Amino acid sequence: MGWMQRLKNGFARLMYGRNGPDQLGLAMIWTSLALDVLSIAARRFVPLAGAVLYWAAMVLWLTAFFRMFSKNLYRRREENSRWMQFWWKLRSGAQGAKARHADKEHKYFTCRNCKTICRVPMGKGKVEITCPKCGAKIYGKT
Ligand SMILES: [Zn+2]
Repeated sequence: MGWMQRLKNGFARLMYGRNGPDQLGLAMIWTSLALDVLSIAARRFVPLAGAVLYWAAMVLWLTAFFRMFSKNLYRRREENSRWMQFWWKLRSGAQGAKARHADKEHKYFTCRNCKTICRVPMGKGKVEITCPKCGAKIYGKT
């Protein structure tokens, strides 16, 4: 048995019953790698910032490692699902913002009371909008 095969078998045995790499773990590892690269660049100009980034990368990396080998699957899955929800929100939010930016025919107002986004046609001058959700008044210009 070659050493590669032995290593693989050993790893499989080690990972049995453990969380392994999930989406959150992978995101942490990627972020830590990015921070590491940033720290190398930052160290040249601001040594302190470089050190901080380096340690942030280290902590993330260790946390990712800990999660990967953790046997508390319930907790780890919960963390991962929370991360996925956050990520999904972030992504759909960015997509929504992009779509609103591309829309030149409407202006978008966010209700201060309930954060609902209200769409108003452009070119109406000063408008008073009643929030469809909570009834608060929004004043704006289109
Ligand atoms: Zn509202």
